[in-house]
Amino acid sequence: MADCVFCRIAQGEIPANKVYEDQSVICFLDANPASKGHTLVVTKSHYENFTTVPKDLLSHAIQVAQMVSQACLAQLGATGVNVVTNVGRAAGQSVMHFHLHVIPRYEDDGLGQLFTETLSLPSDQLLLLADSIRQGM
Ligand code: 5GP
Ligand code: ZN
Repeated sequence: MADCVFCRIAQGEIPANKVYEDQSVICFLDANPASKGHTLVVTKSHYENFTTVPKDLLSHAIQVAQMVSQACLAQLGATGVNVVTNVGRAAGQSVMHFHLHVIPRYEDDGLGQLFTETLSLPSDQLLLLADSIRQGM
């Protein structure tokens, strides 16, 4: 995709601080990091998001994210990691090319919990929700 920033980084047309690369994924530092070492794991082929990337490639990408996470814990003094992927604009996805965020976490880094607001739903709604999801699988 000529107008996709991550395709262009994968093809070497736009520079990035590369962390890792193999045949099918490339990892580089996020240009607007949430924390020190915030790394993106990006498939070299263009898929819109987590829900459309082929299973084998997804498995590989998550294994690479594990490797990056381990390296952040071992090398950066991080004591935790958030691994996140955003699907769709409602979820905050801004680059429509599948990627995983590896966000190293540090004691008192000020980022807090990812989900601070929670819903309290009645049990009949919980049953319906679980049922709806089951029917879609
Ligand atoms: P999303 O919001 O789609 O889950 O995450 C996209 C991420 O890509 C953002 O955190 C943003 O800072 C990062 N990003 C966008 N454009 C570039 C770029 O050209 N280079 C790098 N290194 N990161 C980028
Ligand atoms: Zn792309």
